[in-house]
Amino acid sequence: MTFRKKAILLAGMITLQLSYVQVNAQRENPVVNNIMIEAKNTQLQQLGYELLDVIGPRLTGSPKLKQANDWAVAKYTSWGIPARNEQWGEWRGWDRGISHIDLVWPRVKSLEGMQLAWSPGTGGKTITGEVIVLPDLADSMAYVQWMPSVKGKFVLISMNQPTGRPDYNWEEFGTKPGFEKMKQERTVMTEAWNNRLKKAGYTTRTLPVALENAGAAGIVASLWSRGFGVNKIFSAYTKKVPTVDIALEDYGLLYRLAEHGAKPKISVRTDAKETGVVPVFNTIAEIKGSEKPNEYVILSAHFDSWDGGSGATDNGTGTLVMMEAMRILKKVYPNPKRTILVGHWASEEQGLNGSRAFVEDHPEIVKNIQALWNQDNGTGRVTNISGQGFLHSYEFISRWLAAVPDTIKQHITTNFPGSPGGGGSDYASFVAAGAPAFSLSSLSWSYGNYTWHTNRDTYDKIVWDDVRNNVILTAVLAYMASEDPATTQKDRIILPANLRTGNPQTWPEVRKPTRRGGLD
Ligand SMILES: [Zn+2]
Repeated sequence: MTFRKKAILLAGMITLQLSYVQVNAQRENPVVNNIMIEAKNTQLQQLGYELLDVIGPRLTGSPKLKQANDWAVAKYTSWGIPARNEQWGEWRGWDRGISHIDLVWPRVKSLEGMQLAWSPGTGGKTITGEVIVLPDLADSMAYVQWMPSVKGKFVLISMNQPTGRPDYNWEEFGTKPGFEKMKQERTVMTEAWNNRLKKAGYTTRTLPVALENAGAAGIVASLWSRGFGVNKIFSAYTKKVPTVDIALEDYGLLYRLAEHGAKPKISVRTDAKETGVVPVFNTIAEIKGSEKPNEYVILSAHFDSWDGGSGATDNGTGTLVMMEAMRILKKVYPNPKRTILVGHWASEEQGLNGSRAFVEDHPEIVKNIQALWNQDNGTGRVTNISGQGFLHSYEFISRWLAAVPDTIKQHITTNFPGSPGGGGSDYASFVAAGAPAFSLSSLSWSYGNYTWHTNRDTYDKIVWDDVRNNVILTAVLAYMASEDPATTQKDRIILPANLRTGNPQTWPEVRKPTRRGGLD
């Protein structure tokens, strides 16, 4: 055996011994142990059922979000955790009803689609009309002349996709040249369609309004999410006539029928209720600290969602993680040193409004945050934690992570000191205010294409073991942050210069929330 080999062996033994001590430390920590045990008695599926299946999606300003606020308060109360709904603003109230869309000519077929959020309904009637495609005309004058012809018709305003197969499917089964050819054709078609809008003098935002003003019966769009059977469902711009999104397959059918001169007709009935200007709330619950009640460990996840699916992974899963972590903490760690507060924010989707309002309304809490953990990018197990540009984040987060069982943290990569997140989810509202707030960033599970803001963001997409993993991680991190004898240092790194411009970068600024939204 060479000396070198001996040294390696010796070093290996030391590492082994160290990790043995670490593992023992974990085993010997009764609170961490009890968190693991109580997590086995999981309530996640029951909570998920009640929130996602019974209540459903939680669009800001909809009665569903208010129902969810009340449900969460009742849940926390039943666990012995004081909870409240805090009003921070007002929003355009809208209640989604049914969407029935049928092809009635030249053949009959029920179509897969739904009205966009905040779309006007059809007033209890079924409207039947011909479907036409936004034509390709010479210039804006030609579009002005064409405009009156839309009267009483449904207008298709999205391009027809050349394929309903996602790229990964082409990669798997197509030839290389075949895949390249498809992508090239798609690029050409996309540019041509964008050019059509430009020639008409409209954007995707202004075109629907121009069409309804010209007397169109409704607007038909299709925002494919580049996966099998997935569309993204956002909000309508029309004020009088319905805007519906139709799934790629059925949209393509309508488009081809119209292009071939078959003069297809659809019948549309959408029910939607304008409910006026309604209050919007964050749901807050807290377990009071016994030694340092004015210092806070915050669990954070937005409560609102888009409403094409049931908001299962955006952000049902983040919500469930925080609720279940609170339930477990209350049971196994009922007297934390610092206050453990959970924030379920509204209107994240319209620009982090609920959390920005909380930051503005509670400076006394924000300046005393020991740590905040936010989760909001799907159902996956946490794989990334960044120090968000806090100079000492390495020290305290590493200290806390050391107590997390290896089976839970083995997939996590850390990035210290990292750089401050300027947006994306609610932790950014707190980072901007200088509070040590962190994102528990998850493995994707095809989040971007398949569930994020789509009609397929439903209960069945949840990977429960990963969510349970995140519950344990969150609960242990909250416990460790609460117990830490040291208060976290909030010094920020000096940000490096922007590589492109050479100018020094600046810390993200605190932004004002929109407190009266959706009304324009
Ligand atoms: Zn989200």
